[in-house]
Amino acid sequence: MKCMICKHGETQEGTTTITLERGTSTIVFKDVPALVCDNCGEKYVEDKITKSLLKNANDIIKSGVEVDIRKFQIAA
Ligand SMILES: [Zn+2]
Repeated sequence: MKCMICKHGETQEGTTTITLERGTSTIVFKDVPALVCDNCGEKYVEDKITKSLLKNANDIIKSGVEVDIRKFQIAA
């Protein structure tokens, strides 16, 4: 699709790293599927993936972990 930010680039399938911070906890997800603009580098992550990330992060935070870096895996 056309990039909504710069309006010139085309998005390509790729991956990104997303950091979520909640209170004292920092959770980093690597290899998150995303569409990346080939012009400005803006990243678009699908809603279902964002929701999955937030759910995973909440589970991690509940377990009391303060810093966690993991590879993204979509929740079944
Ligand atoms: Zn762009």
